[in-house]
Amino acid sequence: MELPASGLPADAVLEALDARRAGDADWRHGRTFSLIYNTGDEQLEQLMEAVAARFAHDNALNPSAFPSLRDMEREVVAASAALLHGEPRAGALTSGGTESILMAVKVARDVAADGRDPSRRPLNIVVPESAHPAFAKAAHTLGIDERRAPLGDDLRVDVAAMQTMVDADTALLVASAPCYPYGLIDDVPAVAELAGKLGTSCHVDACLGGWLLPFLERLGHPVSPFDFRVPGVTSLSADVHKYGYSTKGASTVLHRDRERLKRQWFLFDGWPGGIYGTPAAAGARAGAPIAAAWAAMNYLGEAGYLRLADDVWQAFDAFRSGIDAIEGLAITGDPDFPSFQFGATGTDLDIGGVADAMDDRGWHVDRQQGGLHLMLSPHHLTVVDEFLADLAAAVRGAGASRGRAATYGGVS
Ligand SMILES: *Cc1c(COP(=O)(O)O)cnc(C)c1O
Repeated sequence: MELPASGLPADAVLEALDARRAGDADWRHGRTFSLIYNTGDEQLEQLMEAVAARFAHDNALNPSAFPSLRDMEREVVAASAALLHGEPRAGALTSGGTESILMAVKVARDVAADGRDPSRRPLNIVVPESAHPAFAKAAHTLGIDERRAPLGDDLRVDVAAMQTMVDADTALLVASAPCYPYGLIDDVPAVAELAGKLGTSCHVDACLGGWLLPFLERLGHPVSPFDFRVPGVTSLSADVHKYGYSTKGASTVLHRDRERLKRQWFLFDGWPGGIYGTPAAAGARAGAPIAAAWAAMNYLGEAGYLRLADDVWQAFDAFRSGIDAIEGLAITGDPDFPSFQFGATGTDLDIGGVADAMDDRGWHVDRQQGGLHLMLSPHHLTVVDEFLADLAAAVRGAGASRGRAATYGGVS
C-alpha cells in the first residue's frame, strides 16, 4: 500500500480498523489459551481502556517531563519486588519479558566482562532447553554464546548436565519459574548454588510465575522456592502484562541490588542533543502501559489477585483431571503451573488431528513440538465443561493432522 493521497475522516479510519479486526482471535470467550490473560472482569477491561486513552500520548523517556510516569514505574517495580522478596529500588519496568531478559543477560555479561581480557573467547550463558527463546535472542544480540542444557526425566533442567556445560567463560545460569512449554519450576536452589560456586550470575525467568506464584503460595498451594529468598539468585523477570492482568507492554526486571541495576542503564554524554540516559533497551516509551500496570495493580489489590489466583487454580484442577480422564490423552510431566502440554498416549491418535478438530469447533489450542499446549486464565473457569466435552469429541473424531506447524510468534 501507499499513503492515501489525502487523509480519510477519523470515522472512516475507525470503521476500516473495525473491519480489519473481524478475523482476529476471539479471546473474550475463553477460546484462546495464550497471548491474552483474561480475567473476565469487564470493569478491569474498561479501566484498561480508559487508562490507555488518558496516557496515549505521554512519553516516559524524560521522567522530569512526566513525573507521574516515573512515580508509577517506581511503584510497580517496588510492588513486584515486594512479591518476590527483592529490593524495591533495584528494578525497572520494561516493555515485556523479552526486554527484561535482554537486560538481565546484559547485566550478567557486563559483570562477567569486568576486568576480563577482551581477546578471550566469547562469554556464554547456560539455560534449560525449555527456557524461553528470549534468552537465545538476547545472547545473539549481545554477542555471547547460548548453551541449552538438557532436561531430566521430570522435564526440569538437569543440573548435573548443566554443570558439565559451564566453564570459565560462563556469565549466567538460568532457571525458569515456570517454563512456558510444561509449566514446571526448575530446581532454582540447585541452579543458584551452582552459579554461586562458579561466581556467576543466576537469572530466574518468572515472566509467567512472578505475578501468580506468590499468590498461590499465600493460598497454601505448594510452590517450590524460586525468588530472591533463594541465595545466589541475582536477577528475576516478572511480567505484569501476564498474570498481573495489565494490557501489553509491561514487565519488571529485578536485580539483587541497585549496583547491578546501574549496569543496566545506558548513559551517553557525547551528543549535541544533551546527556542521554535510558534505564533499559527502549528510547521513547509509551506511557499507557506504565499507567495500565499501576492501574491493574491498584484496582485488583492483594484480595483481587488472590481471588483470581484461586480461579486459575480451580480451572487448572478441572482441566487437568478432565484431560487425564479422556482416553488416549495424557498431560506431559506433572506441571506446577497452569501452562502445560498434553499429548497422545499412543500412536493411533494423531494429536495434530485433535488440534484441527478443536479448531473446527472454534477453540485455539496451541501446538507444540510434543503435543498441545494450554495456558489458563481466570476466565477459563467458565468454559471447563464445554472445552472438555469438545476435546473428548475431537479425540473420538480426530483424523490425520492437516499439518499445521507448531509455531509461536512470527514475522511478516
Ligand atoms: C512470555 C514469556 C517470556 C517473554 O515475554 P514477552 O512478554 O512475550 O516478551 C519469557 N519467559 C517466559 C517463561 C514467558 O512465558
